[in-house]
Amino acid sequence: MDLAFTQEEEAFRAEARGWLKAHVPSAPLPSLETEEGFAAHRAWEAALAADRWSVVDWPTAYGGRDAGLVRWLLFEEEYYAAGAPGRVGQNGVSLLAPTLFGHGTEEQRARVLPPMARGEVVWAQAWSEPEAGSDLASLRSRAVRTGGGWLLSGQKTWSSRAAFADRAFGLFRSDPDRPRPHQGLTYLMFDLRAPGVTVRPIRRLDGKPAFAELFLDEVFVPDEDVIGRPGEGWRVAMATAADERGLTLRSPGRFLAGAGRLAALWRARGCPDAARRRVADALIGARAYQLFTYAAASRHLDGVSLGPESSLNKVFWSEYDIALTETALDLLGPEGELADTEWAERYVFSLAGPVYAGTNEIQRDIIAERLLGLPKGRR
Ligand SMILES: Cc1cc2nc3c(=O)[nH]c(=O)nc-3n(C[C@H](O)[C@H](O)[C@H](O)COP(=O)(O)OP(=O)(O)OC[C@H]3O[C@@H](n4cnc5c(N)ncnc54)[C@H](O)[C@@H]3O)c2cc1C
Repeated sequence: MDLAFTQEEEAFRAEARGWLKAHVPSAPLPSLETEEGFAAHRAWEAALAADRWSVVDWPTAYGGRDAGLVRWLLFEEEYYAAGAPGRVGQNGVSLLAPTLFGHGTEEQRARVLPPMARGEVVWAQAWSEPEAGSDLASLRSRAVRTGGGWLLSGQKTWSSRAAFADRAFGLFRSDPDRPRPHQGLTYLMFDLRAPGVTVRPIRRLDGKPAFAELFLDEVFVPDEDVIGRPGEGWRVAMATAADERGLTLRSPGRFLAGAGRLAALWRARGCPDAARRRVADALIGARAYQLFTYAAASRHLDGVSLGPESSLNKVFWSEYDIALTETALDLLGPEGELADTEWAERYVFSLAGPVYAGTNEIQRDIIAERLLGLPKGRR
């Protein structure tokens, strides 16, 4: 295994670092879970896109640099190290885009990807329903055939950033007569401002509308917004889920930067002995996750699909993030309780890690059954 980067890769890293140094806002942007922050983050996405840094691994035709997966990982390391803003376009860029690359048509990619790269169209993920989270296949929202397209009806929930987003992608039951719940589902894109859509923001404990519920009442969607074949949405969605958990949702850059900031905090607090081991664990964990991800990326580039292996990544990063931020809060003591500090906000968000992108209980079931070959658990 070759762990060294090529000269070209190092040059790419240096170029990214230089650009970020010159462009990252000196003061943090307002939270992207507020209307004002959402607009500020959209403008940041546009600035990134203007110099082709918003989607470096995408083909140039869609606004990328055709830089490939390894350079994307390098870019992410530089991005987080520079303290650059969170990405408001993340659902689109890391979930919908890989789905379109794998299962969309050329027309869909040409229409959907460039405005996504520029932050002009921000996407929300509309998968979960009130009775369909872990058991996603039990979803009840339906797509009924009509002239030239489909009519969507039902309710989606926990849709991150849908309070301010423009469009959404999700699964709908198009053939209720199929014998198994994951059959007869269709994957569709729809407009959050179309007639028949009601977006009701859900406030978090801190009052910010980080999520929304979506109520759909015969919302028309044209045929060109079906991804993959009608009735085969489950297969498409599972490919998206593997990407989300395995590579695209949480790049190691985030944790390398976080562990670096934790070590700096520890030193600033006088290197307390009680936290020494936990800080060392955070640094080692970030490096281990980095190497594991590079190995996964190499396999991906060799044409191996990530599949259930992604669940290992998901369990690791979500538990790692909680341990990292808890250590920071312990170092800060009472100061860490202040709701508006960077670490307090990060800690609260880390607690959601074992829930979103599929709960860790479900990931452990996948690991047990599909990677270790253990018998199915009792449901
Ligand atoms: C911060 C955050 C952001 C989110 N963003 C989005 C989004 O943008 N779009 C979207 O569609 N959804 C989103 N979600 C929803 C998320 O995907 C669901 O919360 C998640 O899939 C769990 O579903 P549920 O909440 O219905 O819990 P349930 O499925 O009701 O599960 C409750 C508990 O029971 C456990 N459980 C359930 N079934 C089993 C089983 N078979 N074996 C063992 N344990 C089991 C679960 O692990 C969990 O601990 C988000 C959630 C959070 C917290």
